Amino acid sequence: MPTVIIVGSGLVGAATALAFHQVGIKCTLYDQVNPVEAVMDGRAIEFGASGGCVSIQAGGLRVLKTLGLLDECIEKGQPHPYLSFSKINGSSQIVADARTSNKKAGETDPKLQTPLQILRSTLHNILMRACHRVGIKTLINKKLLDIKQNSDSVTVTFVDGTEATADLLIGADGIHSATRRKVFGDNLVAKFTGEMGHIGVVNIKEHNITIKEADKASFYVDRDNKRFLAIFQASEDTAAVRVSTFDDPEVEDQSYRPVSDLPKEAGRLADLLHEWGVPDYIEKMMRNSFRISAASIYDLPDLETYRKNRVILIGDAAHGMVPNAGIGLLTGLEDVGTLLAIMLERGTAAANQARNLRVKGMAASPIFGGSLNHFIFRGVAALNNAGLFTLYTLFDCEAEVAKLIQEQESK
Ligand SMILES: Cc1cc2nc3c(=O)[nH]c(=O)nc-3n(C[C@H](O)[C@H](O)[C@H](O)COP(=O)(O)OP(=O)(O)OC[C@H]3O[C@@H](n4cnc5c(N)ncnc54)[C@H](O)[C@@H]3O)c2cc1C
Repeated sequence: MPTVIIVGSGLVGAATALAFHQVGIKCTLYDQVNPVEAVMDGRAIEFGASGGCVSIQAGGLRVLKTLGLLDECIEKGQPHPYLSFSKINGSSQIVADARTSNKKAGETDPKLQTPLQILRSTLHNILMRACHRVGIKTLINKKLLDIKQNSDSVTVTFVDGTEATADLLIGADGIHSATRRKVFGDNLVAKFTGEMGHIGVVNIKEHNITIKEADKASFYVDRDNKRFLAIFQASEDTAAVRVSTFDDPEVEDQSYRPVSDLPKEAGRLADLLHEWGVPDYIEKMMRNSFRISAASIYDLPDLETYRKNRVILIGDAAHGMVPNAGIGLLTGLEDVGTLLAIMLERGTAAANQARNLRVKGMAASPIFGGSLNHFIFRGVAALNNAGLFTLYTLFDCEAEVAKLIQEQESK
């Protein structure tokens, strides 16, 4: 049975491990930090640069459904039927129906047409618990140091001096992936965009804050001063506020507040939002945040390939992107879904072929004993030698995926 090392037990790494497990492939997760301990204790996890909350569109919800986790995510998250865009003080609101865009994107299941917002820590908790339930091992304090591969296997060395060897390595180690730098090129690094800010997470129930349906995923912009604010309701009782400023080197007039000036504390950030003239309830959300994480925004140049021999990049390690479209995780979950679909179809067919061969190979006729089967097998071998039979068909991954995409598009 093939073995797989997954470096990075973030959202995409954990989802990949579950997908491999579903098709019977043994894998182990390795991470430089210890998210598992915190998750198992029920503690909230700080995700630093990646913030407080994610919105998952229909395609990502489909993958969670395939992994058997959709209902739990819906129960612990918050559907947001709308996206709204306003000026920084909440005026001139534009409301878009997110269900219509998912319908237009091709989603026919009404349950999946409404995007779901969920706290990152909650989603990670759900994924890691699912890994734990099925016995997927996660080894922690394993910071990747080096990778060596040959025609038979791939070996990873960690900073603590330990090693692991497997048939395949999945680099799910995020936008600053060490796997990518080691195997694909040292120059392939994410670039800082100049946008920096903070995300506050608040218990809205405790502070009597009500968010209107249209405002559950809402964006506020002051283009003149390069200020940005976003609100995300993440569950019945929690919401996230994200505040950013842009340090644009192309803009000569740097009279707007420079990035480095943004305070890190909830109270001082709330005072700043007051100065900006944001709606009162948003200022209150920031003031009462129980957790503030930093969010520096990076962008990764497009890679020419996500695979080199026995190493595959997945999630942000492959295609880390600026968060403006809110589809980074969605794309990572699509990677997982694509791997799973191909592995499932191909893997199930191959396994059935192998089982069939095992049964037929060992079968004996009641009258002729094992000789009959040996005779049949001789015939099969002759057909093979004459080029009329093959045990398997060549699988051209790129062509197969292109075919799947074309089939979907023509539906
Ligand atoms: C502010 C913000 C808002 C966003 N909002 C959305 C949204 O609404 N919807 C959406 O779809 N996407 C969103 N995204 C994108 C989304 O967060 C990412 O696409 C997603 O988290 C990527 O997951 P990942 O598992 O690939 O990487 P990560 O979550 O970054 O996980 C990487 C893991 O690898 C580990 N690791 C790193 N280096 C090493 C090493 N050397 N050795 C061992 N382990 C290592 C890390 O500890 C971590 O656990 C947003 C991003 C940002 C920054």
